[in-house]
Amino acid sequence: MNKRIAIGMISHETNVFSPISTPLQAWKDRVMFIGPEIIDKARGSKSAIGAFLEAAEDNDWEVIPTIVAAATPSAPTDAATYRYLKDQLLTPIMKSKPDAVLLAMHGAMKAEGVDDPEGDIAQAIKSVIGQRPLLLTMDLHGNITENMCRNCDGIFAYDTNPHVDSYERAQEAALCLQRIFSGEIDPVNAYQRKPMMPPTINMRTSEGPMVELHQLAREWEAKPGIINVSIFSGFPYADVPHAGLSIITTADRQYLKLAEQCSAAITNRAWEIKEQFLKQIPNAVQGLDQAASLMSSPVPGPVILADVADNPGGGGSGDTTELLRELLKRDIPESAAAIIWDPETVEQAIALGVGQTGTFNIGGKAEPAYGQPLVVKGKVRLLSDGRFIARGPVGRGMEWNMGKTAVIQVGQTKIVVSSLRIACNDADIFRSVGIDPAAAQVLLVKSRGHFRASFEPLAKHIIEIDEPGAANPNLHRYNYQNLVRPIWPLDQMS
Ligand SMILES: [Zn+2]
Repeated sequence: MNKRIAIGMISHETNVFSPISTPLQAWKDRVMFIGPEIIDKARGSKSAIGAFLEAAEDNDWEVIPTIVAAATPSAPTDAATYRYLKDQLLTPIMKSKPDAVLLAMHGAMKAEGVDDPEGDIAQAIKSVIGQRPLLLTMDLHGNITENMCRNCDGIFAYDTNPHVDSYERAQEAALCLQRIFSGEIDPVNAYQRKPMMPPTINMRTSEGPMVELHQLAREWEAKPGIINVSIFSGFPYADVPHAGLSIITTADRQYLKLAEQCSAAITNRAWEIKEQFLKQIPNAVQGLDQAASLMSSPVPGPVILADVADNPGGGGSGDTTELLRELLKRDIPESAAAIIWDPETVEQAIALGVGQTGTFNIGGKAEPAYGQPLVVKGKVRLLSDGRFIARGPVGRGMEWNMGKTAVIQVGQTKIVVSSLRIACNDADIFRSVGIDPAAAQVLLVKSRGHFRASFEPLAKHIIEIDEPGAANPNLHRYNYQNLVRPIWPLDQMS
């Protein structure tokens, strides 16, 4: 008889310092497919679920679709919403008792009253399927618990940041399942961590400490019996006791000792090089001083000021004002800022109409502690429905939607204000509202790292700025309640 495989996804990167709540509607607004709809939507896509479906087809596995849901990074989802999501995932599994479960999870989720939803879900599934396999793909920003590792048979974290390999990791998970079914392997996870919680500012996999850790992982994966090594650098804004870096080695059971050695060796190395995760960055005044001195250089292109602490992709509201305030003060010709999330201001601009001047209260509404609204006189330069095709390496020809959007000019600076909260990750955001990013002198972008693929080729220089927001790389700014102390870098540790 054909094997029956349940598939699903519940994915949220939770930032407890985010002023943005995560009700059920936030999931519905982003991604929520239930039951057979999942197959219609994901078949053929280069996503984790697409890879699971492909593998099922190749192996003649019968698919039991559960739920595929994701919400944009924000505060913990409420208890009722979490119960709903978990029920949608578990009910089909309880009914069908599948031969295996393949899930695409995030790893840094937190819900009201539940510190480790991924572990909670894995445990609940295992209580239904027992010895039958549960395999997970996860984001390398996951904060992983030992309980979660005990309750699944294999973990496949992304190897790339920016993340471009969710499809490939899911293919690996499916291949692992195939090998389990054939009796070739019986996997087990070896978990290891240190009291370290690096900020996310220097976690890219193309430079910095992650390069060395991944090199080590590839060396260990070449040894017999090692199936996969997952480097979880963690997400420091979840404020959970298990937050931070962890290494999980998935290996054939008879190689458990080797797997434990692998996780320990890489964790030790991460501890030794932990200072490399830190990065000193200038505040708005220093950053704009730097920008001013760079503007006269003959290298073409704009100086880009990245408002990294307010990255909507990490839980930022997208409406903080400190960097924007300083930019407006300097009144730089050919300067622009995107994307400021402020539906109220957009409505005001629409009511005024293009070409009209008004007094606006821009931003600072979600959490005034991260910067008060800016009271400015501005001219409505353009109104749009906010929909455009993003052709950059991040957008890949997909339609993006900022919601109703206004460009408001204050002095010589054009501000792109949107009704939907999204990160400024593609230079086509500026082009879509008539601003040529390559011809600008200075651009403010609200993003941490994903903007680089699109903006680096046209930028003269990129400056990351240290100002208030839900995802500031200086973790000392936050009032943590739930960490196990001491933990680096908040506490002095050698
Ligand atoms: Zn991530």
